[in-house]
Amino acid sequence: MDFDFAEHHTLLRQSVRDFARAEVAPHAKKWDEQERFPKELVPKLAEIGLLGIRIPEEYGGSGMDTTSYAICVEEIAKIDGSLALTVASHNGLGTGHILSFGNEAQKKRYLPKAARGEWLAAWALTEPGSGSDSAAMSTTAKRSGDGWVINGTKMFITQGGVGSFCVVLARTNPDVPKQKGITAFIVDHGTPGFSASKHLQKLGCRSSDTAELTLENVRVEDAQRLGEVDHGFTDTMKILDRGRISIAAMALGLGYGALDMALTYAKDRKQFGKAISEFQAIQWMLADCKTELDAASLLTYRAAWLADEGRPYSREASMAKLFASEASTRACNKSLQIHGGYGYTREFAVERHLRDAKICEIGEGTSEVQRMVIAKHLLMG
Ligand SMILES: Cc1cc2nc3c(=O)[nH]c(=O)nc-3n(C[C@H](O)[C@H](O)[C@H](O)COP(=O)(O)OP(=O)(O)OC[C@H]3O[C@@H](n4cnc5c(N)ncnc54)[C@H](O)[C@@H]3O)c2cc1C
Repeated sequence: MDFDFAEHHTLLRQSVRDFARAEVAPHAKKWDEQERFPKELVPKLAEIGLLGIRIPEEYGGSGMDTTSYAICVEEIAKIDGSLALTVASHNGLGTGHILSFGNEAQKKRYLPKAARGEWLAAWALTEPGSGSDSAAMSTTAKRSGDGWVINGTKMFITQGGVGSFCVVLARTNPDVPKQKGITAFIVDHGTPGFSASKHLQKLGCRSSDTAELTLENVRVEDAQRLGEVDHGFTDTMKILDRGRISIAAMALGLGYGALDMALTYAKDRKQFGKAISEFQAIQWMLADCKTELDAASLLTYRAAWLADEGRPYSREASMAKLFASEASTRACNKSLQIHGGYGYTREFAVERHLRDAKICEIGEGTSEVQRMVIAKHLLMG
């Protein structure tokens, strides 16, 4: 979108775009078909700073702002939604939680390895019985000696199988209102009792790793507790606010990517003796896509700018995610329509974009939940 980004943001966008075209575009279709997480790409992602986007330089990261984070995710999503989801969740959720609420020892232990791509991060809030109502979780952490014992099952966890550590939210106090008795813990892969019990097969984002996690009498030291006891849910809401900006950015990238494909195809494809781009029906679809995506982009980068300014942005992040995700699905759907029957085949990437875009309406809070958040802010007043 034409927008007055700072020069360093424009340069960043170009370098991530070049990277995505060179290193991701040739493989994205294959990874999706194989439903395989591309581990081999992780060192390259780390090399250009995409695994430590907001991690300060003192911990080995790129030390960039939220606008940069959105730009990185958007540019990757133009090519591959799965990889964009990986980058968004690794940076925003798992490492983001440690960055925002971890103590110095935790930051020193986890952030440099996360930024170098030696350790991928996962973040586990959702459970089989608690999704939108995430505070209703039944995973428990009980004090035992000078540590904790965690039991429960987590569902739909991105990097759940390939991650080296996972931030796990668990109930620590059943005797207070549900939001007030939850604590976060960092659980290392390989801790006895902690396992990725099931790899989930999905409609889209198939090369992003999504797993069900089982925690059976998982013992962690108190040093692995992240943030204050019983304060994990309040912290989680803050993590999700920034995360929603990245999901809006992912939606933007998928939508703009699909629009580019539609433009190329519409100019090339001839029916009734002329390029289909000459038909008004096609032009209107293209115009609607561009208008809605640019509106989504303004919402997304407004929310990112507010975050960078240190101003409240929870409502704006929800608005961005709600509008961008739904605009993206519409844009991908229109682009597929413009491709006709060819769009319905796997020869063209537009079907993958449509499948990938749908998760943006669900992950990190469904569209219905975003509407609830926005209305709550409005009514509070
Ligand atoms: C690919 C993928 C990756 C994910 N990654 C992660 C991750 O890394 N970590 C993590 O913790 N979670 C993750 N999730 C989980 C995701 O955040 C949840 O799926 C999402 O929050 C919705 O929860 P649910 O699936 O249980 O749906 P439900 O909450 O059961 O919702 C079902 C339907 O009911 C609607 N609904 C629910 N409550 C209300 C209400 N009060 N008013 C109106 N409508 C309502 C919902 O909007 C939805 O349409 C991931 C999910 C997927 C699919």
